Amino acid sequence: MSANDCACHIPSHRLGCLQCGAAVCPHCAIPMESAAYCRSYAGSLLAAPDVQPIKPFELQ
Ligand SMILES: [Zn+2]
Ligand SMILES: [Zn+2]
Repeated sequence: MSANDCACHIPSHRLGCLQCGAAVCPHCAIPMESAAYCRSYAGSLLAAPDVQPIKPFELQ
């Protein structure tokens, strides 16, 4: 998986997570507040309150 590939392995050159810069394809991007975020960041926003334990993200 290259830096330009989404987590689902679809190459994405048009969208990027506004928070971490990760490549996200249109199918996986999570639109929030008129910006696109990756699933990891969107999930952390929705699932974690303020503090999040250090553990790897679960990408599916
Ligand atoms: Zn991100
Ligand atoms: Zn994707």
